[in-house]
Amino acid sequence: MRYVNTVSGPVSPDQLGRTLMHEHFLFGYCGFQGDATLGGFRGQEYLDACVKAVEDARAYGIETIVDATTNECGRNVRFLQKVADTTGINIICSTGYYFEAESSFAYWNFRKGFADIGQEIYEMMLAEVTRGIEGTGIKAGVIKLASSCQQITPMEEIFFKAAARVQKETGVVIITHTQRGTMGPQQADLLIANGADPSKIAIGHMCGNTDVSYHEEVLKRGVYVNLDRFGLQGELFHTPTDGQRMDLIKALVDKGYGGRILLGHDSVNVNLGRPIVMTEMMRQSLKDANIRTIGAKVLPGLKERGMNGEQIDALLRANPRNLFA
Ligand SMILES: [Zn+2]
Repeated sequence: MRYVNTVSGPVSPDQLGRTLMHEHFLFGYCGFQGDATLGGFRGQEYLDACVKAVEDARAYGIETIVDATTNECGRNVRFLQKVADTTGINIICSTGYYFEAESSFAYWNFRKGFADIGQEIYEMMLAEVTRGIEGTGIKAGVIKLASSCQQITPMEEIFFKAAARVQKETGVVIITHTQRGTMGPQQADLLIANGADPSKIAIGHMCGNTDVSYHEEVLKRGVYVNLDRFGLQGELFHTPTDGQRMDLIKALVDKGYGGRILLGHDSVNVNLGRPIVMTEMMRQSLKDANIRTIGAKVLPGLKERGMNGEQIDALLRANPRNLFA
């Protein structure tokens, strides 16, 4: 692929610059659509929050943001285009569905009774990558896939197989959600066995596990690892700390994998539905959960661990460029 689709049109991979590989401008837990009376869409408030997020990311040189919100979790490509138009940043949007427990598979389970849903999901993703989303002409620049904790369910597997087919035909990049870092090797194997190109796959949320040999097991398949939950730590998330994640990066770079690591926060800049009411535990776990954390903590932390400027910059610039090139 000589270009990557952003919500504002095609961009050369060389023009992406520093890229965050997994964020959410808007995200709604499935079912938020039904709470429209008290949780309705507050466009101007949301736009202000997203413009602020872009400014915060730009403060450390970010020029492109991959929005990983799936089709049923509040993806809104017209809104994303408005954020891109207002700020001038590149936004790459996704096509795909979330993992089973937090998705809305009822629709596909119903259709399964009378339609070939593997074919239908393939056609949906292909259309969104090549023609556009919801009749807009705004195309998905990545396919987003997700699996559950310690398993890829039969319905999730249908999405993986459809995505591999679309990847093979179009060259589009695939990013994934692993639940707490589990099933990384299995996700890669499933996609590759169905014809996807490993150099176009980023296995996501891999910073849910900081075991170096586990990462090597995934990386030896020729895919990228997306360490894309910086700032999400503590009791609520059952994850390693950001410090442990930075130690992991240094260890992988020392083993020669510096060209296969991608970064992000999995930040949610607007929660759709009614505003969240924070408990003390949530407040603690979410204190660094924002798009500033990589600039404020991770880049300096990697320097302290002995990585040089070029090695650090590659994680945000050269690696995403190579993934999309
Ligand atoms: Zn996410």
